[in-house]
Amino acid sequence: RMVPAGAIGGLIVALAILLLARRQLSMEGALRNALRRDEFFVCYQPIVRLQTGEWVGAEALVRWRRADGTLVGPDLFIPVAEQSKLVTRITERVLRLVARDAGHFLSTHPAFHVALNLAAEDIHSTDIVGHLRTMLARCGALPSNLIVEITERGFLDLESARDTIGALRGNAIEVAIDDFGTGYPSLSYLESLDLDFLKIDRSFIEAIGTDAPISLVVGHIIAMARSMGLRMIAEGIESEAQADFLRERGVEYAQGFLFGRPMPFAELMQRFKEREHAALVRMAGAG
Ligand code: C2E
Ligand code: MG
Ligand code: MG
Ligand code: MG
Repeated sequence: RMVPAGAIGGLIVALAILLLARRQLSMEGALRNALRRDEFFVCYQPIVRLQTGEWVGAEALVRWRRADGTLVGPDLFIPVAEQSKLVTRITERVLRLVARDAGHFLSTHPAFHVALNLAAEDIHSTDIVGHLRTMLARCGALPSNLIVEITERGFLDLESARDTIGALRGNAIEVAIDDFGTGYPSLSYLESLDLDFLKIDRSFIEAIGTDAPISLVVGHIIAMARSMGLRMIAEGIESEAQADFLRERGVEYAQGFLFGRPMPFAELMQRFKEREHAALVRMAGAG
């Protein structure tokens, strides 16, 4: 007797869904354990002023060190955390870690900024501003020490995003749109939001100098940001040629392996102080 092909196809699909669901569930369970066992930590990637090379801040990027020692990057676990509603708990953890790592330094360096990534669920929760204020109070840093990064997914519920952005900026916390250009960039919504920074996505930076049409698009995005009064942070700079291209077009800030990879806060501080010292020595030499 023949089994209809449709039934076999259906069975295969059902099996695949079952396997994916199981994988998702085991990842979810692992994330719950990770929260309980405190397996997250944060690395910091320098943000530089392109004109001078000065380090003006750092982006906090979460990492997960599993019990067996393996490191897991956020691209792998944040999407699962977002689907399973665990992400707000990870955000809370990140806020605590940043307060612990960077708090003292921020409270003595009011011009230094730490950029935090928030998930859509954080943006749509009413207490995120309260959480941030608690974190700041805990370490004596100022709201103006913070930049909150939101990807386009965070703007899907536009009304609620608008409320949160208003509350953040009302508290002197600056807001950036992250990974700009990867979603469905609607200029009308961008104009309707009161943002401070636009972070142009790494995929565009990669194309500078190798892909002429995309380089042209980068030029247009820069012009558009300027006309909207948005300051720019370019991410993923790996070559001097890319830095030159952006600098010549007036982009103010940048991040990328060219300047520094994400690193533990102690290392960031060590290198920050070395640079400060070198600048002082140069000034003394010139004076
Ligand atoms: P993102 O916010 O766009 O962060 C920039 C990512 O680009 C980081 O990856 C960084 O290590 C990487 N990167 C920076 N410069 C270069 C470069 O020159 N070349 C290359 N190839 N890569 C570069 P990472 O740390 O793996 O983070 C990936 C994403 O995970 C982040 O993208 C962000 O969307 C998310 N993420 C990280 N930390 C958090 C967090 O605490 N909360 C939430 N909700 N999401 C986070
Ligand atoms: Mg970011
Ligand atoms: Mg500021
Ligand atoms: Mg980004």
